[in-house]
Amino acid sequence: MKPRAATRAVDLLIVGAGFAGLYMLHRARRMGLEAQVLEASPSVGGTWYHNRYPGARVDIQSLEYSYSFDEALQQEWKWSERYAPQPDLLRYANHVADRFGLRDGIRFSTCMAGAAFDESAQRWTVHAEGGESFSARFLVMASGPLSAPNRPDFAGLKDFTGPVYHTADWPHEAVDFSGQRVGIVGTGSSAVQAIPLIAQQARELTVFQRTAAYAAPARNGPLDAELEARVKADYAGFRARNRRMHGGFGSLLPPNPMSALAVPAAERDARFEERWQVGGFAILGAFNDLLTNLASNALLAEFVRGKIRATVQDPNTAALLSPTHTIGCKRLCVDSGYYETFNRPNVQLVDVSTQPIERIDAQGLVTGGQHYGFDALVLATGFDAMTGTMLRLDLRGRGGLSIQDKWHAGPLNYLGLGIAGFPNLFNIAGPGSTSAFTNVIVAIEQHVDWIADCIAHLHAKGLSTIEASEQAEAGWAEHVNAAARRTVFLSCNSWYLGANIPGKPRMFMPLADGFPRYADHCAEVARKGYEGFVLA
Ligand code: NAP
Repeated sequence: MKPRAATRAVDLLIVGAGFAGLYMLHRARRMGLEAQVLEASPSVGGTWYHNRYPGARVDIQSLEYSYSFDEALQQEWKWSERYAPQPDLLRYANHVADRFGLRDGIRFSTCMAGAAFDESAQRWTVHAEGGESFSARFLVMASGPLSAPNRPDFAGLKDFTGPVYHTADWPHEAVDFSGQRVGIVGTGSSAVQAIPLIAQQARELTVFQRTAAYAAPARNGPLDAELEARVKADYAGFRARNRRMHGGFGSLLPPNPMSALAVPAAERDARFEERWQVGGFAILGAFNDLLTNLASNALLAEFVRGKIRATVQDPNTAALLSPTHTIGCKRLCVDSGYYETFNRPNVQLVDVSTQPIERIDAQGLVTGGQHYGFDALVLATGFDAMTGTMLRLDLRGRGGLSIQDKWHAGPLNYLGLGIAGFPNLFNIAGPGSTSAFTNVIVAIEQHVDWIADCIAHLHAKGLSTIEASEQAEAGWAEHVNAAARRTVFLSCNSWYLGANIPGKPRMFMPLADGFPRYADHCAEVARKGYEGFVLA
């Protein structure tokens, strides 16, 4: 075994150099703190480093999905498209790392092997794979809510003789499917983006669908120069308005403040159609109760099924592509030509909802007693979301309490930011916060700013630790549940509930309370001297 190098003392140890880790490092340095980032990949970018499958792009408009913390940055950066494609987002992350001189604070290609809270020193001891160790006053998990790919345990997967790709772990070399027969498992957001492009390249594409997806057209295109100028004329005001929107975005087209049940059918369909033409998530704002009232939701669901029937020529395929669950209960997909792709003669849709994938063999896949052959397999099977990354770590709080034991029944936390038993550990954009329902960069900036202010507070008061109380944690779990009960989100099986991972405890993990209310709540907790936390 390699001898461990001397332990380096830092104020903050940050795990991950995606958008959260980069901004946390920048804020820490501006406060004069010594911070070190550990990043498993050889580059910055996090999500946008790994998810480089064909068609990968953000589903929130570029002018909104970007940092607001630096006026010069937001004025100078130019997005090329309405919805930035993955290469642009990765370029942006690299630009930010260079512009703010962050690279020398990041240890690349370095995984955190484990971290334990040392109660006598009141510090975290963090070991990196490779032998380095750190003693950190604060540990900030910026490892992302969607960063642990879900690889279903299909029997025989290792026997497949062709390449197997996962959308969330796509190779960095170009993948060329020309002339190949390709199979793809999954029809969530990643698949919906990848399928149209793979279908254009492959000789044959077979899509294995367990649950049909609702997808709204992105209506992507070059960024509108007039809109860009208008936003940039008052970017700070635009950001402030977005921070008051339920999802931290969408102030360009606020939701219609009426119930879908309050208007005659013809008017309702006209409102749906207007928003469908705008594209993306705009449709969910056509009325104010689409995600809170099942009857209103059913009307939108039927509107989208009508679009599918009008687009897909073969009625059997259209029926199979038409979802039956509540719309928006699983995250709405935003697509560019997804349903149209099923009109291509080289694309076949196979239902695996009633007869699951039995096994994979050297040449393909067996389901419903039938064999489907292909040369390459794509798993678009998503993530062990919100908890997967943390639970794969050896993370130990007070008394050696492991995160696996702490979270055996679900990810208990307070405000999403703190965990009882894990002092001075902050989690960015994880369970218990609105991140999954929010423009995640808005969510990240709010978390990082709150953490930075909290550390400044501890410093000013001469305090060494902050830790969520168990009582506050129990109250927060109830708060998160209550918020979910006011929505349609409990009416289907989604990754929000942990339902996509066999054996994962069912607990509704993200907070569906709206970003403004959540941010106000966090600010109020701070104002009241960090109510619900124990400061020592
Ligand atoms: P996902 O939404 O969880 O979709 C995974 C797909 O794989 C689902 O269709 C799922 O079916 C299927 N699947 C999983 N295990 C399976 C099995 N054993 N057999 C058959 N099918 C199986 O994952 P994702 O598409 O990667 O997206 C995850 C999240 O990432 C999104 O909700 C979104 O928040 C984010 N994302 C955003 C964008 C964007 O547009 N910016 C793009 C990609 C991802 P079931 O539905 O039946 O479980």
